[in-house]
Amino acid sequence: MTKILIIYTGGTIGMIQDPKTGALQAFNFERLTNEVPELSKFNFEIDTYSFDEPIDSSNADINFWLNLSQVIEDEYESYDGFVILHGTDTMAFTASALSFILKGLSKPVILTGSQLPIGMVRTDGKDNLISAIEIAASRKGDVPIVSEVAIYFENELHRGNRTIKLNAAHFNAFSSPNYTDLAKAGIYIHYNYSALYPYKEAKLERQVNFCSDVVVIKLFPGLTKEVFKAMISINGLKGVVLETFGSGNAPQFDWFLDLLEDAVKKEILIINVTQCIEGFVVQGRYETSVELNRIGIVNGLDLTTEAAVVKLMMVLAMDEDLEKKKCLLLESWAGELTVSVSI
Ligand code: ASP
Repeated sequence: MTKILIIYTGGTIGMIQDPKTGALQAFNFERLTNEVPELSKFNFEIDTYSFDEPIDSSNADINFWLNLSQVIEDEYESYDGFVILHGTDTMAFTASALSFILKGLSKPVILTGSQLPIGMVRTDGKDNLISAIEIAASRKGDVPIVSEVAIYFENELHRGNRTIKLNAAHFNAFSSPNYTDLAKAGIYIHYNYSALYPYKEAKLERQVNFCSDVVVIKLFPGLTKEVFKAMISINGLKGVVLETFGSGNAPQFDWFLDLLEDAVKKEILIINVTQCIEGFVVQGRYETSVELNRIGIVNGLDLTTEAAVVKLMMVLAMDEDLEKKKCLLLESWAGELTVSVSI
């Protein structure tokens, strides 16, 4: 019989309203399963695991990713699929992290959550949870249909490391603008087989080394030399995700380029991603990005900021030289970027 493990980490799906303040806060998982009696109607076995202290996902950190991946590793042989209940705010970061940490993954790891708590009448949590379980349990022949980390939300299944949260109010909170949906759920769940990561039998090997000495710098017109200098020369800084304009463009001011060049000379690894929701970086397309190529900034293609941050943290923790680290950033580890783009 198919066995699914639901892992509850926290998030709105399991929250209740504090009667005094009205603020949403995490509560216990038993209550959550009671709210969904439909769980007993599935004809497969469903077990649950709850974090001792469920968190609002705004409190997620590297340790949280490692603990979560540890639960999956510990239970990997005992279950056919995993559903992770997680807050929406940083779900895309966790999905990216898990997709890189769980090297050799060949089972479904489906993250979901909700915009309204599961105890509320209009909750979106029930549908999300039930469909996520169904996806985690679905098989074609004797292999799982999904063998990667994905986010299921409001009828859509997205590759986890391609996903961004783009709406803080609507039920349809997630999108993967640079990668087609993996599945759409209506009366039936329609899988996009050609977009799914192909099933490969492999041994799961957790990648657990991270370097957190990184910063995300989002460019904006009016950024001053003083402010940029303060950020790029933070003591101990090892990596920067530089969010640039359009297809990877940045100011051409001498002070800006000099500061970037100094940072690269100090072996700070800088990756260029676009502030645009859709599209990719092509360093050298405009005059405003030609210099970035010369300086040695990595052209981040269509990586999301979420995936870029996690990947940078992991690359920086590897025992490789700077040039090799740059190459590693540009390899696809778990389908997170489009390696060759035609322009
Ligand atoms: N702040 C919540 C969290 O990310 C929001 C949610 O669950 O949707 O944990």
